[in-house]
Amino acid sequence: MRRKTMTQFSTEDLLDPPVYPGVGYGLLADRIGRTMWSLDDVVFVQAEAIVALEAVAASLAKPGMRVLNVVTSPYGDYFATWLRRGGAIVENVVAELGRPVQFAAFQAALDAMEKVDVVVLVHGEAANGVLNPLPEIADAAKARDALLVVDAVASIGGHSLEVFGLGIDIAVVGPQKGLGGPAGLSAISVSKAAWAKIAEEPALRLSVLSLLDLKENWLDHGSADALPGTPAPLEFWALDAALDRIDAEEEGIETVIERHQLAARATRAGIRALGITPWIEDDASALALVTAAPIPAGIEAEALVEAAAEFEGSAISLGVGGVEHLLVRLNHTGPRASYRPVLANVVAYGQALASLGHAVNVDAAIEAVAGAYQDAEPVGSTE
Ligand SMILES: *Cc1c(COP(=O)(O)O)cnc(C)c1O
Repeated sequence: MRRKTMTQFSTEDLLDPPVYPGVGYGLLADRIGRTMWSLDDVVFVQAEAIVALEAVAASLAKPGMRVLNVVTSPYGDYFATWLRRGGAIVENVVAELGRPVQFAAFQAALDAMEKVDVVVLVHGEAANGVLNPLPEIADAAKARDALLVVDAVASIGGHSLEVFGLGIDIAVVGPQKGLGGPAGLSAISVSKAAWAKIAEEPALRLSVLSLLDLKENWLDHGSADALPGTPAPLEFWALDAALDRIDAEEEGIETVIERHQLAARATRAGIRALGITPWIEDDASALALVTAAPIPAGIEAEALVEAAAEFEGSAISLGVGGVEHLLVRLNHTGPRASYRPVLANVVAYGQALASLGHAVNVDAAIEAVAGAYQDAEPVGSTE
């Protein structure tokens, strides 16, 4: 008998998977590298993205290293903590709560540093819907000859991540958000300059967090056909399938990005038609994977999320990292970056506000979402 989960998912198919073929790892690394326009080495960390981020910090940190670190959510704080553990001297540029970093503030902090070895930032924040000004920050970091480290876990698939074009030395991505893939596997693009810094003594070795171990035990093996340890076949097959879906007809990474951009545009048009200004007012500073919507005065965040959950197909949650009382997040990530989920989110948010006594125009919002999709054929088919 087949045991089914709540979503009619056949768990039996997960048993006794074939081994992922050895040559497949290098090919997969190349394919995920292409989603971020990287020409550098790409290594896998066989864990969720937060582990890959800690591996980067633990491997890169050196005693006395000077780092300028942008903080726009708890992830930036974690990164600073990990770097300091390795002896780095970290200067944080902390943005206003739930807001993107202001480039002028970043530049001022950079100018105030006599020496800067590394600049770190999160590209897009799933926690609060922020998109940070990566190209400007990249230029400024390069002008100071600093290594540039980017957490792109929540922006990959939603925004183009020009690793080569912007000179990003280390980019960390996970397939579980915009790429619609598994959460148990992450990828890191590492430039030659970053490898050189990582290899400087004291170098982290004999650790699951060591990127140098990965390089020496996998990349430098020439054939690159065996990952150290016992790779989890299900995760690799799932990543393979997610990349196949991206490459399938009408898709490709550019189309995935367009699909997320459209979802964000439609969501923001819907919120504005309700009579509400999106939490991030400037479209260019808004993430394409989730949209932050404000919680109007007099409304309880939990009550809003609870009321919205009544509407089938919506995915609305509290903000994360101190913004819980300020915004809710309308999730249009991965397979949710399409017409029906986007519409469900906007209607759920609008109806929830209405049910809590806040006047909004839900009909206008429905029209605005449909209009955004009609303007965008064929990516935005309203099917
Ligand atoms: C989701 C996310 C991560 C990874 O978190 P996991 O819990 O490992 O999925 C890292 N950075 C950012 C900015 C994220 O949004």
